[in-house]
Amino acid sequence: MASSGEEWSPDTLAFMDLAIQQAKLALDSLEVPVGCVILEDGKVIAAGRNRTTETRNATRHAEMEAIDVLLDQWQKNGLSQSEIAEKFSKCCLYVTCEPCIMCAAALSILGIKEVYYGCANEKFGGCGSILSLHLSDSKMLNSGDVLGRKGFKCTGGVMASEAVSLFRSFYEQGNPNGMCCECIIRAGFQEEKRHMVDEMAISMTQSKCKSIFQFVSSFSIVFELHYLYIIYQ
Ligand SMILES: [Zn+2]
Repeated sequence: MASSGEEWSPDTLAFMDLAIQQAKLALDSLEVPVGCVILEDGKVIAAGRNRTTETRNATRHAEMEAIDVLLDQWQKNGLSQSEIAEKFSKCCLYVTCEPCIMCAAALSILGIKEVYYGCANEKFGGCGSILSLHLSDSKMLNSGDVLGRKGFKCTGGVMASEAVSLFRSFYEQGNPNGMCCECIIRAGFQEEKRHMVDEMAISMTQSKCKSIFQFVSSFSIVFELHYLYIIYQ
């Protein structure tokens, strides 16, 4: 997915810069520095940053924060399920790091139109690095998806070096557990797994193949159910 040396439009760079600002806020709060913004019709309508430490909830990634802002707002405004789905289908997400498997699955279920990301997430990326959850179901082999994902257009590499330098700053400023960024992300993900599907945790770290797919299927279904409940209740 990542494209290097590409010329980005001024708008693309401006929106990613807003996501970088969110990531900087996360860094200032000693969180893993990932930030995002969501746009509708070219206008920023939500922003989010990683808040996993603050909330002590390993699923509170930047994307989830921004998505929940919109779901809360639209539900309070009395939008119907089809109106919410229609709105998501017009939204674009700019996020500093490739969405993880969990977030990519959620974005795909919600039917977001398009995603731009900065650096790749080579350990847990759900938009090409590990799995390709941005592709619609018909393009996935043996996905095990029972509820269906819509897929979304995805472009990586926008201001990737800036995103990586924030991770580096996070590491250099130290962290409570004395772990490198990769270990923190891994630990965060391990924590998610303990929350969500304890039994799958060991196999996840041992193989990228069958076990990861089993894990993701279980994991995705939990989030599918969560978001379907929110949207269709
Ligand atoms: Zn995520």
